[in-house]
Amino acid sequence: MREENCIFCKILSGEIPSTTVYEDQDFKAILDVNPAARGHVIILPKNHAANIFELPDEDAAKIMPVAKKIATAVKKAYNCDGINILQNNGEAAGQTVFHLHVHILPRFKNDTVNVNWLQGEMPEDLDLIAEEIKAYL
Ligand code: 5GP
Ligand code: ZN
Repeated sequence: MREENCIFCKILSGEIPSTTVYEDQDFKAILDVNPAARGHVIILPKNHAANIFELPDEDAAKIMPVAKKIATAVKKAYNCDGINILQNNGEAAGQTVFHLHVHILPRFKNDTVNVNWLQGEMPEDLDLIAEEIKAYL
């Protein structure tokens, strides 16, 4: 499955060059060309899915072990203090390339990478919130 005009599909087909760090039957992991830190890797499913909502369960099940493998290698390579594993869905969430990908982002104490949010007050209606979500499960 490939989508016309998708940058990551073009990377997967070799039409656009990339630097591969890992590849198997289902995924290719490449260096991000505009990294937030040295060793910033993105994992691309070989079959096009725009986002998590389109991702087949089989790929969803397989992608976390790949993320773990790469995160472990990146941690050893750069001796970083931490790693963020991020996956953005939708423009509002920061997604800029609409072919699902998982970021493996090395972090260091006092680095300038910002993936944080301000913690809100504890809602008084936690049970209601849970019900609002459970209605769609
Ligand atoms: P998003 O913001 O969608 O979660 O992440 C997209 C990521 O893809 C960005 O970190 C961006 O630097 C990276 N990116 C965009 N175009 C290319 C490209 O042509 N090659 C590679 N390797 N990374 C890209
Ligand atoms: Zn694609």
